[in-house]
Amino acid sequence: MHFFKSILNRFLFSHLHLKSLWLNIIISFYFTSVLNLGLWRYILVRMDFGWGFNAYLLCFLLPIFLFLLFFLIFSLIILPYFGKAFLVPLILVASAANYAMFNLGITIDPAMIQNIMETNTREALELMTFQAILWFFITGVIPAILLVAIRIDYLPYKREIIQRLKLFCAGLVLITLIGFSGFKQYYFFRHDNRAISSLTNPFNIFRSTLRNIRRHSIHQREFTYLDPAAKRTSHVNDNPSVFILIVGETARADRFSLNGYNKETNAELSKEDVISFKKVYSCGTSTSISVPCMFSVKPRREFNAHKAPYSENFLDLLKQTGYNVIWLDNDEGCKGVCKRVETEQLDQSKNRKYCSNGTCFDEILIDGLEQRLAQIKQDTFIVMHTIGSHGPAYYLRYPDNQRKFKPTCDSNDVQNCDPEGLNNAYDNTIHYTNVVVAKTINILKKFPQLNPGLIYLSDHGESLGENGVFLHAYNYSIAPDAQKHVPFILWMSEGMRKQKHYSYSCLAKQAETGEFSHDNLYHTVLAMMDIESKTYNPELDMFSQCRTSND
Ligand SMILES: [Zn+2]
Repeated sequence: MHFFKSILNRFLFSHLHLKSLWLNIIISFYFTSVLNLGLWRYILVRMDFGWGFNAYLLCFLLPIFLFLLFFLIFSLIILPYFGKAFLVPLILVASAANYAMFNLGITIDPAMIQNIMETNTREALELMTFQAILWFFITGVIPAILLVAIRIDYLPYKREIIQRLKLFCAGLVLITLIGFSGFKQYYFFRHDNRAISSLTNPFNIFRSTLRNIRRHSIHQREFTYLDPAAKRTSHVNDNPSVFILIVGETARADRFSLNGYNKETNAELSKEDVISFKKVYSCGTSTSISVPCMFSVKPRREFNAHKAPYSENFLDLLKQTGYNVIWLDNDEGCKGVCKRVETEQLDQSKNRKYCSNGTCFDEILIDGLEQRLAQIKQDTFIVMHTIGSHGPAYYLRYPDNQRKFKPTCDSNDVQNCDPEGLNNAYDNTIHYTNVVVAKTINILKKFPQLNPGLIYLSDHGESLGENGVFLHAYNYSIAPDAQKHVPFILWMSEGMRKQKHYSYSCLAKQAETGEFSHDNLYHTVLAMMDIESKTYNPELDMFSQCRTSND
């Protein structure tokens, strides 16, 4: 019996015990070092050692400062019962965050937290690679198990309190001294390297979550209408028309051969009479910000994703002025934009031709489009929300017969893909998007009497390993162009140009030189769809200079 008990004890690590002070030192050291690998790499890469003494001083002081900060905080937290209950989940969350920061080059800010909250199962599963699980197990699960198993030895409580008070005061004095001696250097370094605060684990998680909660709670909840007096200047339904807006996903403008990319990713589209706007920038670096923002009247600087669900967007004005608005979704939902219009969620479809394992190729969006158009009796505005180039499993976004560029890296473990294979897989998603958009145009061309038109516009771009950064959702103010520079393709039938008095050659010229953003979409669509509203700003209408008299 005794033998079994000792085996059990041994197995359950109950012979392991540690003084509370030592536990604090070890955990503070663990958080400072292993769980902040992403931060230290960022600092070492960005540090300009030509700065001399200042650079070395900062590199020396920062880890000590962070260690002391952890030590002070944990002195207040390592208490009987409470300590473990708080630290175990903290280690697990910090380990997962550290993995993403170190391996995928992401930063954690309020938008990223919002993004995580809205992640669906498919996205989450695609991110769970063998390496991610192994990393999480070694740096998160094992330390957490050790912490649970360990017995923390506290001194008799009076002595424990006195000892902690003494060390806390000493730590406070030391951290103040260090803070003063390195503040100037830190201030200068941070000025050009602002990602530092969104990389300091786990403070970045707390700060971003709190900001997110605050933004959620302070705004007004009353629903606001854009413009109840908005009306159409053209005759409604006299001659039914159709317009399709294709919302792209994770497509980079610089990967479109129409924009000068050296691989032929737009073979099908370049056969069509399309105009590619070369300099268009997104509102955010993630779907949850960009999609509601591009439909909103608010420009990027004023846009608040938490307020957006409580106000209308241009789809509501289209509906209000007599358009039949339809949202077809093959991505992760419309982020509240399509709430008040007819919606079809296609990614749950069982259509075997396009779908397997819970995702569908984007061609599902045009399955049945021809029949739909043949029956149109009312002015119609269709939004197609594509899954486009959604990573990290780029190789799952296109059917095998569209695998144009080879070899491809057929793995979602993007940071371990060879760059050529990764870029080929990504470029295949762009090629496939080009096929889908070109097919849509060709279906529209069969209905010239509907005076059809189409815009393709991506929600944000993607990093493909440049400077160690992958995926997207980077802090907007410091995000690389790859995540913000998005493709914008316009196609108008002859009928539409004539009916609405647009000069196509003028638009083509505008596309080469003009610089635009998601801020322009609202006003451009309103004008294109002949909607008169006090919310319309002609200066933000991309096409206003190319529209002649309006009978
Ligand atoms: Zn997106």
